[in-house]
Amino acid sequence: MLSNSLIELDRAHLVHPVASYRGHERAGVRVLKSATGATVTDATGHQMIDGFAGLWCVNAGYGQESIVEAATRQLRELPYATGYFGLGSEPAIRLAAELAERAPGNLNHVYFTLGGSDAVDSTIRFIHYYQNARGRPQKNQFISIEQGYHGSSTVGAGLTALPAFHAGFGVPLDWQHKIPSHYAYRNPVGNDPQAIIAASVAALRNKVEELGRDRVAAFYAEPIQGSGGVLVPPPGWMKAMRDLCSELDILFVADEVITGFGRTGPLFACSEDDIVPDLMTTAKGLTSGYAPMGAVFISDHVYDTIADGAGESAVGHGYTYSAHPVSAAVGLEVLRLYEGGLLDNGRKAGARLMSGLESLADHPLVGDVRGRGMLAAIELVVDKQRKTPLPPAANPSRRIFDRAWDNGLIIRAFGNGVLGYAPPLCCTEAEIDAIVERTRMTLDQTL
Ligand code: PLP
Repeated sequence: MLSNSLIELDRAHLVHPVASYRGHERAGVRVLKSATGATVTDATGHQMIDGFAGLWCVNAGYGQESIVEAATRQLRELPYATGYFGLGSEPAIRLAAELAERAPGNLNHVYFTLGGSDAVDSTIRFIHYYQNARGRPQKNQFISIEQGYHGSSTVGAGLTALPAFHAGFGVPLDWQHKIPSHYAYRNPVGNDPQAIIAASVAALRNKVEELGRDRVAAFYAEPIQGSGGVLVPPPGWMKAMRDLCSELDILFVADEVITGFGRTGPLFACSEDDIVPDLMTTAKGLTSGYAPMGAVFISDHVYDTIADGAGESAVGHGYTYSAHPVSAAVGLEVLRLYEGGLLDNGRKAGARLMSGLESLADHPLVGDVRGRGMLAAIELVVDKQRKTPLPPAANPSRRIFDRAWDNGLIIRAFGNGVLGYAPPLCCTEAEIDAIVERTRMTLDQTL
């Protein structure tokens, strides 16, 4: 049984991420106690399939003994090593090399962070170093996309386009700009893929012309917009944007914090999109949530320009926990598991998930079903013809989340009536089918 005192201690002392503090105090915490495979158990003994892999991060699933062993070994042998003073640790060096070998194109240099927000923040600094080293310090304007999410660091939150991350912070800053999303279900140009691509290309071109080509440093895109509601661009969209950035002399940053490490099928979504970004950010599936870590992949030309520009001076960017050896040891083992069968299983399970969710399209509440691999969403509407969103006054997401929970399923219920899915790649066919059945049951109870 969950002791009331734990709920009281949480209420009194633990500040939760992205929460209504007062709402959370009223509702009280739900404590997760244990997990194995794709199933989590709360402190009352209630079991659920984790259809969201924690926060779209536990790609390898829970209870992977070999990861626990790798972390334990590293904790015993060398729990910490700084990368300062020319020092390093074996797992960090090996993980960087393994990742570079698998990354698209010439993304041969890896800078490790603690998660996704500081990975994005680091790219902003690297890009400034790069443009300065090229003698183009005036190239200091950054462009990202409406509905995009790039973390909640003080500066990076300005690239994020979700208003909850802006209020009262003075972001976006005056050098952070947005273009409209490709959001096919609600795109003013309709849902024709070529029209959507053309609209995004025109929007970026126009924004760059408006700001001045010689002033724009970089463009950021998620291969699939995650926190904006799992918005999947049409095939060819990433390539069109990448090519335009090359033409306009703008760095293209792919934010693969969610899409990386098998979430959409391959190790990196960029490979399937057939593009090589100038920089790429990852986190989450890198360590599958077993230890905190993110990684910025830097292409040869960006790295060499920064290195040559700095010469013998230090590039002043780094953290105490950059390239943490325990996280790196976890990352190496997670990578081995991905390639030892998890990616294959994730591809099969992803296809089953998509067809299962598509079978829900006949439900009166389901307006749209979208996704790629083990990353999917359904968008709920009250009127399918008009695509009328669920009324915000009766914001249903908490109720839907609660019902799904009671039905033995954790999903992400976004505030705008979108339900998000990102199950662990280890899911069995039966678990995928249960995710779909429990969703239908939850929707029926929501009518
Ligand atoms: N970038 C993207 C695309 C994300 O989805 C996220 C988190 O969900 C981040 C960056 C920030 O990562 P973190 O929460 O690890 O700081």
